[in-house]
Amino acid sequence: MEECIFCKIIKGEIPSQKIYEDDDVLAFLDVNPVEKGHTLIITKEHYHTILDIPEELLTKVYAVTKKLTMAISKAFEIEDFNILQNNGIRAGQTVSHYHVHIIPRHREFKLCLGIGPIKTGEELIDHELCNSEIAQLIRKEL
Ligand code: 5GP
Ligand code: ZN
Repeated sequence: MEECIFCKIIKGEIPSQKIYEDDDVLAFLDVNPVEKGHTLIITKEHYHTILDIPEELLTKVYAVTKKLTMAISKAFEIEDFNILQNNGIRAGQTVSHYHVHIIPRHREFKLCLGIGPIKTGEELIDHELCNSEIAQLIRKEL
């Protein structure tokens, strides 16, 4: 299988502006930043989405995310951030190697998913799932 772009970045086969590295995690600047300091945190091992990544490693990724967000906050003297993480093609994931985005917010704009909310009111109970049914469906899988 052809290796993914982020695996190549880990190996140093594609250059990147690295910010942080340890045994499990690498962080570097996004090549197409939405804002100044837009950073990606990736696992060194290739996992596709949150469904695949071990819980312990996920905890580590978010500890690093916090550490880097603090550093970016100090570097730019800002306190507003979006922390994003896309899973799968329908969710807009373009690189199929698990990653978290830290987007420091220099400018004010509301991020939009590009689709409107669905109707989940109790009145839809006959033909669609309402919120209480949706909650029940998820709870029973825990
Ligand atoms: P996704 O849409 O999968 O959540 O985000 C993938 C991100 O990876 C995008 O923001 C994109 O700009 C970034 N990206 C894609 N290729 C490269 C690359 O070769 N180098 C770096 N630094 N970032 C990349
Ligand atoms: Zn990969």
